[in-house]
Parts: sequence; structure tokens; C-alpha cells
Amino acid sequence: MEQLDLLRNLEEHHNSLKVYQKELFNLKNDSMVNKTEEKILDTEEKLSRLKFSQEKIKDRLKQSNTRLKDYNFKIEEIENNLYKGQITDLKQLEYLNDEKDKLKEIISDTETEIIEFMDEVENIDEELLTIESFLEDIKDKNNKLKSKYRDLEEDLKDKIKSEEDEIIALESKIDVNLLNKYNMIRKNKRTGIAEVKDTICSGCNMLIPTVLIDRLNNRKELIYCECCGRILCKP
Ligand SMILES: [Zn+2]
Repeated sequence: MEQLDLLRNLEEHHNSLKVYQKELFNLKNDSMVNKTEEKILDTEEKLSRLKFSQEKIKDRLKQSNTRLKDYNFKIEEIENNLYKGQITDLKQLEYLNDEKDKLKEIISDTETEIIEFMDEVENIDEELLTIESFLEDIKDKNNKLKSKYRDLEEDLKDKIKSEEDEIIALESKIDVNLLNKYNMIRKNKRTGIAEVKDTICSGCNMLIPTVLIDRLNNRKELIYCECCGRILCKP
């Protein structure tokens, strides 16, 4: 019964094809890569936000430094006026001393501010370094993962192609009517052939009459299960 052997062979290739197709589907729907890509985007966003806020602090630092320069210049002017001895008016001297004290206070505040800004810039620098190294790491891992997935995908696609080729080659050797019948059973029952084990059809678990078993053993014709319609074969 060459046709039956061909059908059994065909069914095996159909089953393998199904397994590979499912594996490919699962691979494509694996959320690992998607999750990592999301994480990369989030981290990049965080990085750019942090850089932006650091730029703002640097601007404020620059402004504070300019102000400090101005204050120092002003205080120098006042001190010049005070110590040159040209001003003798007491009220004016008092006013200038007051101004000098006020400026000293402002300068001290500005210096504190500058130190705070510098600390902030430094802290953000450290944070940026940490995030950048994390990002590099995660990108590297993601690239490796993607390349591994690509290899797996290529491998599965090759296997699928070879199963499909095998199926086409086998189908060309099988009688068209028989092939159509087999495909119909397979479409309805997911498998087209069932082994008979201990007089039981492995497709539907129903008992096969002895008459049919005898005819199956003769191997002269194709025998169908009376219950599920599958083509029967011996293990
Ligand atoms: Zn059956």
C-alpha cells in the first residue's frame, strides 16, 4: 500500500510544519524584545530630561557668577571711596558702610547659591554617567537578543520551507482524489491518519471491527475508521 505510506509520510511532514509554524509565531510574539525596547526608550527620555534640567542649572550658575562679579566690582568701588578719604560727610560715610555690609551679605548668599548649583551639576553628572552606562548595557543586551532571535527565526523559516517542499513533493505522488479526501479529513479532524492500537482507533478511541482489522492487515485497500472517518494504519 504505497499510497498509505506516502500519506503517513505526508502527515508527519504536516505535523512538523505545524510545530515549526507555532514556534515561529511564539518567537515573533515574544514580548522580551518589545519590553527591552520600551525600557530603552524610557531611559533615553529620562536621560534627555536630566540633560535639559542640567543645562538650566548651568545657565543659572552662569547668571549667578555674572552677578557675583558685578557685586564684587561694586564693593570694590565703595571701598575705594571709603578708603581714599575723600568723603568726609558722616552721613554719606555711614550710607556707604551700610551699602558695603548689604553687598557683603548678598555676595555671601550668591556664593552659597553658586556652590549649591555646582553641587547640583556634579550630582546630575554622576547620575547621567550611571544612566548612560545602564543604557549602553541594556542596548548591548537587546542587540544580542535580537540577533539571537533573528538566527532562530531564520532557522525556523528554513525548516518550514523544507517541510513545505517535502509536502509538495509527496502530494505530487499521491492520487488526487485520495489527497483531496485526506486533506478534507485533516481539515476537519486535525489529523488525517490514525493508528490502530489493540483494535482501538487512536484518533477517536473507538473499537474497530475485526472485519476491518483483517482488511487492514491485508494491505490491499485503504480502510477508514467507521466512527471518525480517519484513514487507518498499523503502528
Ligand atoms: Zn476513529
